Amino acid sequence: MSTGDEWEDALDQIDWSSVLNDVDHELLENLAMELRFCTYEALKQSSMILGEGYYLTHLSDGTLAFWHEERYVQEDVTFFETGQHFIHHAIEHFHLEGENLEVLVQMISESRPLKVCSHCQFQFNSDEPARQELGMESIIDEEGGKVIEYCSPQCAIDAMVSEMKQG
Ligand SMILES: [Zn+2]
Repeated sequence: MSTGDEWEDALDQIDWSSVLNDVDHELLENLAMELRFCTYEALKQSSMILGEGYYLTHLSDGTLAFWHEERYVQEDVTFFETGQHFIHHAIEHFHLEGENLEVLVQMISESRPLKVCSHCQFQFNSDEPARQELGMESIIDEEGGKVIEYCSPQCAIDAMVSEMKQG
């Protein structure tokens, strides 16, 4: 068997679809980092599903990020200052009208900006049902009078441990 054949054999054994999926996944994790989420999963769970692969994320600074789960490389994430701005964009570019428009207006009016974890600084959805099941309520920092909230039980523990180390 020549070296060339060995190469071909080796190439045949690679599952290219899984290699491409890995690359895709890495890019999606980059998108999550760009929008300040610890994982792509967290980004997706914290976003509104608009259909046809489009998502809208209500960031902690009040702006909205509009992105597509497959085409976000070709079509950059678009940011909107307010929900109103996004609604105008949807009417203009997607010719949204009637019931679909009403659904979007309703969804945006009920949406609240995400929160920032006091420990890891990533954004998270504080209304997530899993958080309520865990009973993760905000902890008030008495001295500063500022609300301290953690994205996960892990961050709450890590914050406590690092405070103990410091103190
Ligand atoms: Zn955190």
